[in-house]
Amino acid sequence: MTRLDPQPWMNAPQTRRLLAALGEARFVGGAVRNALLGKPVADVDIATPLTPDAVQKKLAAAGINVVPTGIDHGTVTAVVDGKPFEVTTLRRDVETDGRHAVVRFTTDWAEDARRRDFTMNALYADASGEVFDFVDGVEDLKAGRVRFVGDAATRICEDYLRILRLFRFHAWYGQGEIDAAALRAAAAEKTGIAKLSGERIAKEMLRLLEAETPAPVLRLMAASGILAEALPGELGIARLERLAEIDAANFFPPDALLRLAALLPHDAKAAAQVAERWKLSNAARTRLEDLAGANEKIASYLSIREVRKLLYRLGAQPFKDRLFLKWAEDSKAAMQWRALLAMADAWKRPRFPLTGRDVMLAGVPEGPLVGRVLGEVEDWWVDSDFTDDEFSLAERLKAVVQAVVY
Ligand code: ATP
Ligand code: MG
Repeated sequence: MTRLDPQPWMNAPQTRRLLAALGEARFVGGAVRNALLGKPVADVDIATPLTPDAVQKKLAAAGINVVPTGIDHGTVTAVVDGKPFEVTTLRRDVETDGRHAVVRFTTDWAEDARRRDFTMNALYADASGEVFDFVDGVEDLKAGRVRFVGDAATRICEDYLRILRLFRFHAWYGQGEIDAAALRAAAAEKTGIAKLSGERIAKEMLRLLEAETPAPVLRLMAASGILAEALPGELGIARLERLAEIDAANFFPPDALLRLAALLPHDAKAAAQVAERWKLSNAARTRLEDLAGANEKIASYLSIREVRKLLYRLGAQPFKDRLFLKWAEDSKAAMQWRALLAMADAWKRPRFPLTGRDVMLAGVPEGPLVGRVLGEVEDWWVDSDFTDDEFSLAERLKAVVQAVVY
């Protein structure tokens, strides 16, 4: 019998309260898998033989807030003292079309295990930590084998997202070669990826990119023609690989979007297309497009003055993003790059001391000319390394006004 070591998330008061309210319920999926590996657990998913109706009644009776987030598939989100948990009724999939499923609820744990994707994701644990394994998932997990529950080709055709999940989980938990049958089935069915919604593709791919070493798996996907289905175009896997190495060497937390930027070509249009297909947020799209079109000269040997100028023009985050991408192209100068990064982190945006009012007081009538004059003086001020000498600033303003107005 396998038993989980005591886990902080298992003994958290919210978790205890939720399990007590439900009665029959077990932990499932990522939480159990990661606990067995001694890895951090982000969210705690719960499986239960209770119907969604019964779940809602029991939780309401216990004063726990319930949101019917995926009620068609038997999932509700229970919010216990501010902490959300997904509670899903045991089920099997009766009809599938490659992206959706019609489900039937069941009270059979083994049946629920068989509808899950990989054996390492089909593990359950009860409140005492006892693990229930219907598919030899513990053994696969320990061996680093990402293996489909059942026949790989069949499971992929039920939901093509499982192709991407195969590579995502292999990148995170796989050891040695990827499962050959799974790879073959994934390659054979790769065109199914086109049927998936952009949001689902994005979620899996960004999680994949967050793995400690995503590059080997991406190469595998590229070689089998699968990567092009999710991410068309010329990709810089080598650049992404070096960015991941920089993260690992410096204990930087992975930034999935920045890694995607490292992978994409230097072409704002291509970035926009990916953002469109993946239905990324406007903020994410803007960041990707901006980086793909960037052409500032950023080098490890920049002077402090040049760095300040770039920081002022770009802002700290866009500067750091560019810095990381350049660092990934020139990883030899790690010390210098780290110094530039520290400067960006410590940087406080200086405030340009003049306003439109000062320009008007200097004799410029209200109108578009005010902004132009202000911009000219600001350019000079930036070039002066942000002088705080009020006298020279006033002199400059006077000179610009003279040139522009008279
Ligand atoms: P993570 O720690 O990255 O969240 P996870 O295992 O919790 O990993 P989720 O995507 O959150 O992954 O899914 C939760 C569980 O639901 C999985 O462990 C798996 O059992 C099941 N699951 C999710 N998506 C699918 C799918 N497309 N097909 C079959 N089972 C799935
Ligand atoms: Mg999860």
